[in-house]
Amino acid sequence: MTDIARRDLLAAAGALAAWGGSPSPAPGAAAAPVRRLEYDVVVAGGGTAGTAAAVAAARRGHKVLLVEEANCLGGTSTSGGVCEWFANLEGMGDVFDRVRNDLNKHGAVLKGRFFNAEYLKIAWQLLAQEAGVTVLLHASAVGVSADPGRVKALRIVSCSQPIEAEAKFFIDATGEGDVAAAAGAEFMKGDPAHGRTLHMTLTFVLYDTGKPVQPHLPAGLEEIKSNRDLPGLGMGYVLGDGRVYFNATKVMLHDPTDPLSLSDAELEARRQLARIVHYAQRTKYPNHALCSSGARIGIREGRRIVGDYVLSEDDILKGAARTFSDGVAVATSQIDFHSLTRPGSGGWRQQVDPYAIPYRCLLVKGLANVLTAGKCISGDQVAHSSYRMTPTCCGMGQAAGTAAAIAVEARRRDLREVDVKALRAELAKAGVELDPGKHKSFAPSRHSGRKEAD
Ligand SMILES: Cc1cc2nc3c(=O)[nH]c(=O)nc-3n(C[C@H](O)[C@H](O)[C@H](O)COP(=O)(O)OP(=O)(O)OC[C@H]3O[C@@H](n4cnc5c(N)ncnc54)[C@H](O)[C@@H]3O)c2cc1C
Repeated sequence: MTDIARRDLLAAAGALAAWGGSPSPAPGAAAAPVRRLEYDVVVAGGGTAGTAAAVAAARRGHKVLLVEEANCLGGTSTSGGVCEWFANLEGMGDVFDRVRNDLNKHGAVLKGRFFNAEYLKIAWQLLAQEAGVTVLLHASAVGVSADPGRVKALRIVSCSQPIEAEAKFFIDATGEGDVAAAAGAEFMKGDPAHGRTLHMTLTFVLYDTGKPVQPHLPAGLEEIKSNRDLPGLGMGYVLGDGRVYFNATKVMLHDPTDPLSLSDAELEARRQLARIVHYAQRTKYPNHALCSSGARIGIREGRRIVGDYVLSEDDILKGAARTFSDGVAVATSQIDFHSLTRPGSGGWRQQVDPYAIPYRCLLVKGLANVLTAGKCISGDQVAHSSYRMTPTCCGMGQAAGTAAAIAVEARRRDLREVDVKALRAELAKAGVELDPGKHKSFAPSRHSGRKEAD
């Protein structure tokens, strides 16, 4: 172990020990004092949903902390490299519109629904700063301090130092529901029978070098001989700016909330990446070289936190979700349920009519002052496969941030006391089209049935 690694481990041990957690500080490691901060709203996770939530709350004048463990905002759609919006893009609210417009100004929207993720990092950051959000990067939410039914403070570690951020309300937008789970919330994960989640993908991009490249397969990796051997979704999307985006690695049967399993998934994904690049250079892209890969593997599905209502497959297929009176965001994407067990692009894809996401799915069962937003809200695995898309997560984030702001303004202690009619009126004022009937259904993929999924 290097000196730096040893020092970091000692400091981290000290940070945990400050809360009386284990492990005990190693000999020589002082327990760092806990730094205490106070906000109206604390948002954990600066991805799409979390940043939208923080912006929505802060621009109403509230003191908002946004805690993000990466070095930028945007989450899966920036550091994860997922540079495609897979949903209807109109009527999603002024937060989404603003980000999309800013990308347009950079010339960074490519072919309508693809974008340059590097510019998205800039757009989210500037929007958050303009709204007055306190952005805390390089900071992991590691737990909570709580009374029964109520979170008092978020426990954060940054630079190996412990921080406790108190707030009236908390929004868990970590994607995996880390905060709600730490506060004891119930959650669902994977398919009901086996707990198998949708697969993870490390995205990557090739660029055109203008001349033939020398393909190389590192020793020990299996050669891909034909398209049939590809692990995941095909052979890339030509972005139109000389680059090709690959959402093509496929790591199944791993648990993104288990440290060893997540790490193993990253390792497997990078092996696949090397194999796919070698194949792509020998076949479709002889002039292309590897440009970049996601800063972390993309997690389609982690914990789905149980809320006051669980949005179901039946709700979205049989129409009930079109009429929820407490709808605060609208989802438009097809069911996009990749096979849980088979490599390749197979799976269940089915068009659905646009439907409402009820506020009850953002309320965390058993907790008075915590909302979820984004892919970790309360829904079954099939419904999740549709509402998990980035523009929809943005809408949910805007709804959660606005709800928390209204709760602060009305001096509520329980987010269930938020007047949902007033919340919907505020969202409508902010450009969110809440009537599912006014949205367009989004279903570009070839349709296939449920049996294709297993
Ligand atoms: C490979 C892949 C391809 C996809 N393709 C598409 C597509 O083509 N189009 C589309 O619209 N959608 C697509 N999706 C879905 C979509 O990208 C995500 O579901 C959506 O971006 C999730 O947004 P979110 O804000 O809920 O979570 P995320 O964007 O994942 O944000 C969560 C944030 O929380 C941070 N975080 C996590 N834990 C902690 C913690 N403990 N402390 C502090 N910070 C924390 C993370 O670093 C991250 O920034 C894809 C997803 C994947 C994985």
